[in-house]
Amino acid sequence: MTENDSCIFCKIVAGQADAYRIYEDELSLAILDINPFSRGHCLVIPRRHVPWWHDLNEEEVESLFRVARTVADKIMKAYSPDFVAMYARGRRIPHTHIFLVPTYKGDPLDRFFNALEGFQEAPPALMKLREKSSMQETAERLISA
Ligand SMILES: [Zn+2]
Repeated sequence: MTENDSCIFCKIVAGQADAYRIYEDELSLAILDINPFSRGHCLVIPRRHVPWWHDLNEEEVESLFRVARTVADKIMKAYSPDFVAMYARGRRIPHTHIFLVPTYKGDPLDRFFNALEGFQEAPPALMKLREKSSMQETAERLISA
């Protein structure tokens, strides 16, 4: 895939759209997210228009993660969050972008991922509720209430 005329990230890479450029190398570019989850929230994008990160070539993957780590170091130095969360998307804007989000305990993203992890853990907990001994205990408790 090559540069895409309707892609905002391709325009930023080409210098045809404004962005707060934080760091870059020959294959990747880190910019501030214009809708930050917290101060210092950055996006790392490949210069080439590739919707999904797993379709990048080896050199692009190395560059993207090297740039991501460099920028995460900068975020840690500048804002001292608990850590810098990272995830990759490409659905809303079909050009790979890695989210680098300074995360603090209890902030919106932290709560979101905690909820997601809670959802992951829920099935075993729910399965336990269905066990015969649990059902029996629940019934007895309700009956005697
Ligand atoms: Zn693009």
